[in-house]
Amino acid sequence: MDASHAPVRPYFFQLMKERALELLARYYGYHSFRPGQYEIIEAAASGRDTVVIMPTGGGKSLCYQLPALLFPGKVAVVVSPLIALMQDQTLNLVSNGIAAAAMHSGQPEGLNQDIFARASRGELSLLYISPERLLADIESFKQLPVSLFAIDEAHCISQWGHDFRPDYVELAAVKQHFPSVPVLALTATADRLTRDDIIQRLGLHDPFCYLSSFDRPNISLRVISGSSLRSRVLFVKETAGRYPQDSGIVYCLSRKGTEEMAKSLKANGVECVIYHAGMTSTQRDASLNAFLSGRVRVVCATVAFGMGIDKSNIRWVIHANMPGNIESYYQEIGRAGRDGLPAEAVLFFNIQDVIMRRKFAQDSGQPEINLRKLERMTAYAQARVCRRRILLSYFSEERTCDCGNCDNCRRPPQRFDGTIIAQKALSAVMRTGQSIGINLLIGILRGSQRYDIRNMGYDHLPTFGVGADLMQEEWADYINQLIQLGLLEIAYDKGNKLTVTPYGMRVLRGQEKLTLSRYVEESTSRRKKPEQPAIVLDPTEQLISQLKAVRSDIARRDNVPPYVVFSDATLHDMAVRKPTDIDSFLQVNGVGEVKAVKYGRRFITAIRDFEGLGKSQVKGTSLRETLVLFNAGMTASEIAQTKGVKIDTIHGHFAELIDKDIITTYHTLISSAAYTDIKNTLESRPENAFEELRERHAPGIIRIAQAIMRAVDRKKR
Ligand code: ADP
Ligand code: ZN
Repeated sequence: MDASHAPVRPYFFQLMKERALELLARYYGYHSFRPGQYEIIEAAASGRDTVVIMPTGGGKSLCYQLPALLFPGKVAVVVSPLIALMQDQTLNLVSNGIAAAAMHSGQPEGLNQDIFARASRGELSLLYISPERLLADIESFKQLPVSLFAIDEAHCISQWGHDFRPDYVELAAVKQHFPSVPVLALTATADRLTRDDIIQRLGLHDPFCYLSSFDRPNISLRVISGSSLRSRVLFVKETAGRYPQDSGIVYCLSRKGTEEMAKSLKANGVECVIYHAGMTSTQRDASLNAFLSGRVRVVCATVAFGMGIDKSNIRWVIHANMPGNIESYYQEIGRAGRDGLPAEAVLFFNIQDVIMRRKFAQDSGQPEINLRKLERMTAYAQARVCRRRILLSYFSEERTCDCGNCDNCRRPPQRFDGTIIAQKALSAVMRTGQSIGINLLIGILRGSQRYDIRNMGYDHLPTFGVGADLMQEEWADYINQLIQLGLLEIAYDKGNKLTVTPYGMRVLRGQEKLTLSRYVEESTSRRKKPEQPAIVLDPTEQLISQLKAVRSDIARRDNVPPYVVFSDATLHDMAVRKPTDIDSFLQVNGVGEVKAVKYGRRFITAIRDFEGLGKSQVKGTSLRETLVLFNAGMTASEIAQTKGVKIDTIHGHFAELIDKDIITTYHTLISSAAYTDIKNTLESRPENAFEELRERHAPGIIRIAQAIMRAVDRKKR
């Protein structure tokens, strides 16, 4: 074959893939890419602009972090909207041995300048920064060896998105100033308008677009309609109680809502913190830290909480109130179960929330779009079909079978003739002259002695108390259905009064029958039985809980959140594989080399104890650790620091590894000048060589040189 036709490109890409997998295992401890990740990495690393759309928890960060690692000596600049997010990401990266830092207004200016200097010297692989800081002096970034720009939460650039940030619009300047540097835009917002807007506004050139599946099958979906604050509180308490080791989020509509929820939870013995935009940044940080560290397991928050929080052991997200659109909802519930293990998303639905949300939408400056989004959200909450299909179809993903992991799939609605129920409600609405809202209607139907009812004389209506056989929640659910099915309407322009539609009138007059779905009781006591804490844990569970204890210990000692040590998914894999030495420890999913060395002993000891294998570590572990770190590109002093031993010990390890022919390239171990000096001295004056050399070289360096001399001898023979 003609040499000019040799398949050069494929070979190059093959090498890149091997290198990428090697970096993935070394730094992250993962052994394969998730769907799409490698295609994105390859596109970005080949210099192509790229748009990544993946659901929260899909693994977007890796898509720009790995290309950054493929270009040592260069820095990937990551634009991120929130300080908390930058801190979280850099902490995670650094804990995996990756050089990363963030420049932001929350730290001293001197530190920011140091970080910039490190980046300009090519010492950082990743530099996180806010858009305003980048744009304030974008010229100066031309001093940096930039490998790529990553724009995280890129939907913030679009007016169509749900989180528009004017700063983001200016990011068009990035492509103008750096036309040849690839830009990666990442978001969890999937709709086409937003996507096109991102491409156009950032000025991306023929980008590679990756749209991943939005399915998060491990998150169970459930909606509970019309319940009181008290039953919501009890539900949260019960849910938190079912996950005594793990965390959860309660999303509330307003600042006040978070405070009330937190107060009621505390009164019920559930420890929690609050988080909303009205708190000072110190207060917010305190809440965040308590939650991320696992000290407090429940946070009551507004939407201000959560963007970019990569806490993997969030097992449940409960919405005490309905969000205004499906994008936000999906993003918020996506914070649960990022480790891929089962998680729960529960939405409490009340028509009152719809009314509030309508007001927000109307005042939002883009009422048409936001009202339409709200309608879709409401339809989700009221749906009687598979909820996952609704969510996925919203993100234009075709799904032809039910999920089996939502309330509607698990308990298909029972239909019954609801004509009489409808007539009772519709008649009560008519008798008041269509002048009441839902709460008052329920009060009248159930015969409540509330002051406003007696005051208006509604207690004398013939319909007063005709529905006393049904609970508050049942009525709320049936009235929702009447609205959803089009028998009642809410007059949003007239104080949210209920009005009866022509269809409703026909049912009221008995001209048409109506089928309703049976209300399903959501009482907390009903669910308790099968889920009472198991008395006998299976052995894997037992081991997991011991590994979690080890993790908490390390997290406390190192003052980092437990998930920065290892995710739950990693502990599960560890409990299944039960590694008893460092080699098998490295096989565990999520154990990279730095963490293997930093934490390996503690976990291996716990596993050995559990297995009754005795405490002593397998011989040679220490040497193996040094090799792992050496292969990862660390210098002797970095290895010594990581392991907490003297540098001489590490030099000794190097000498041993050279003697075993495991290390065969030496130039990073010793300078050629030192080697030549030691070799010459040893050969020319063997008697007093050591005394003489000790004045010029550390003992470990001499041992390395001797080992190299022996290796050279072996090769000659
Ligand atoms: P996103 O930014 O899309 O919300 P993240 O980048 O935070 O998601 O990733 C979510 C979780 O998935 C993280 O805990 C991450 O470590 C894990 N993850 C990412 N890629 C992989 C992979 N290839 N194999 C295993 N776990 C992965
Ligand atoms: Zn379903």
